[in-house]
Amino acid sequence: MDPNPHTVTTNDLIATLNLEELRAKYRHERDRRLRPDGAAQYRRTSGEFGYYAKDPYTERIPREPKSDRVDVLVIGAGFGGLLTAARLREQGVESLRLMDEAGDVGGTWYWNRYPGIHCDIESYVYMPLLEEVGYMPKWRYAPGEEIRQHAVAIAERFDLYREALFQTRATRLAWDEVNEEWMVETDRGDSFRARFVITSSGTLTQPKLPGIPGIETFRGHTFHTSRWDYGYTGGNQDGGLTGLADKRVAVVGTGATGLQVVPHVGADAQELFVFQRTPSTVDVRDNRPTDPEWAASLKPGWQRERMENFLAVLAGEPVEESLVQDGWTATTSLQRQILSGAVDTTIPPEERERRDEITDAITMNRLRARVDEVVEDPATAEALKPWYRYMCKRPGFSDTYLQTFNRPNVHLVDTADTGGITRMTETSVVVGDTEYEVDCVIFATGFDVGISGVMSGTLPVAGRDGRTLLEAWSKGPRTLHGFTSNGFPNLFHLSGIQNANSVNFAHILLEQAEHIAAVIGHARNRGYHVIEPSAETEDAWVRTVHETAHDNRAFQAECTPGYYNGEGSRSIAGASYSPGPIAFHRLLRTWREEHLDEVLVSARAERPAAETVGAPR
Ligand code: NDP
Repeated sequence: MDPNPHTVTTNDLIATLNLEELRAKYRHERDRRLRPDGAAQYRRTSGEFGYYAKDPYTERIPREPKSDRVDVLVIGAGFGGLLTAARLREQGVESLRLMDEAGDVGGTWYWNRYPGIHCDIESYVYMPLLEEVGYMPKWRYAPGEEIRQHAVAIAERFDLYREALFQTRATRLAWDEVNEEWMVETDRGDSFRARFVITSSGTLTQPKLPGIPGIETFRGHTFHTSRWDYGYTGGNQDGGLTGLADKRVAVVGTGATGLQVVPHVGADAQELFVFQRTPSTVDVRDNRPTDPEWAASLKPGWQRERMENFLAVLAGEPVEESLVQDGWTATTSLQRQILSGAVDTTIPPEERERRDEITDAITMNRLRARVDEVVEDPATAEALKPWYRYMCKRPGFSDTYLQTFNRPNVHLVDTADTGGITRMTETSVVVGDTEYEVDCVIFATGFDVGISGVMSGTLPVAGRDGRTLLEAWSKGPRTLHGFTSNGFPNLFHLSGIQNANSVNFAHILLEQAEHIAAVIGHARNRGYHVIEPSAETEDAWVRTVHETAHDNRAFQAECTPGYYNGEGSRSIAGASYSPGPIAFHRLLRTWREEHLDEVLVSARAERPAAETVGAPR
């Protein structure tokens, strides 16, 4: 017998579920939000809207164009680029250039500096190379500025500023068959050469705006969260936005960013209107300072062990003990609905789905109940409840977001029935027939999704015989392990495509960096100049990814629209390797041991070092 008659058991929770009713409610909420224009509803922050993407943090520094030669060019100086460059340094690569459109390293942590910014993945597993750089994060979930400074520390530790080009966008890559190297052009007039090019330009980089009719007519102040205007708001990432004290402010968007921004704007603005289309799930954050005793007790190698453990738990692999116990590790089976991972094949798929749906419903009921517990006004609480399955949207965590709606100066404006904001005028944001006059509109409306300019076409790549990468990938990406493609020698990509994926993407990037550095290092040691998979090897990998793909189309079709399902019912199945990151990393290790030489396709004599920038004399 249960010793405590008030304990609610899982069976009690299951008994209260009416899955049929829940499915109908989810469908209804999805249909309220589906728009015929899908992903086309958004506007790019270029041309007329280029102002929204302008760098507010670093003055543009004039410089002479480069016309030199490097061994390795790394495009993108976020964690992916930094880690690859660091591991290449360890392989003895001296001639190495980082390039980024930003004014410094850091990638997403360079651009995103909005008040409240934190990483919601535990800092001890998210911030890479902690032991190598000799740094212990101050908090369990680190603030953005601490992470940005860690990126700078990595660049300094591995001497990566030496040849770096910031405020520079690559505009063309063309393979020079004769010299077996890439010709690189940029928007700063550079025209230089690189034997190897590595693209690590991120997946969520270009800020996007909602396609609100009249958005261009607004005459008040406006900016995107990833280009925060502290000149206007005052304060810093810790808050203190004194410039908003006499302002009526609109925040548009309630995704992971909106959740972090709203508490600070709510605390400091005269009046805040939060324009919500779909509420996020908001689970407990429970951030806390790093315990110095715990930090002192850690043995060398602790970070790798913790990262591996977190990755394994999320991927559904067996572990003796889960080291990071938080909101992510508590919902692992649900995350596999859209992320990759091992599934228990001893259970029939229908039974697995039944169990997942029950776990999902219990989790979502708990999160909806949390809204009722925190938010005082019942109508506001009702509108803040998320009605969809857990992984339809990126999960959110906050101990201050929901609480902000109890402030008298903060108003939630639900825009679900109108598919978002109806229009904007010179002075206001309009939903249906109601006008909200505001001084400032802050767009927390996210980013274009894609792997860098090579896929969007903003960075044209011409490989062997002038064939472009977009032509070669016209029916979808074709790679070996996501890194390299036939016809595009010495070109490597970091991304989740046909590679591994996980919530802790910084860990995925570290593994990718180490793989790329190992392959390039091996080629250099053996005196090879060209690395390129054969068409057959590439075919085999593309087939493997498709054949093992976990088909989540049915799940996605039932979801509220968002970038996870292409604003509709598109599946992301087949994008990454479905058996999961642990299986993938195992596969890569075996491949390196047994097949590495297969991608080394020609041998040439080393060029004289004097031609190469940064090479030891
Ligand atoms: P998202 O794309 O997740 O959210 C955009 C928001 O804008 C949504 O709430 C969306 O509503 C809303 N929106 C879009 N168009 C309109 C419109 N016309 N009217 C009203 N609302 C609209 O962007 P975020 O910047 O929040 O997050 C992007 C990603 O960045 C996250 O998913 C996460 O991967 C990452 N991130 C990670 C953090 C971390 O701690 N690790 C922190 C912050 C971000 P709807 O949902 O209805 O489309």
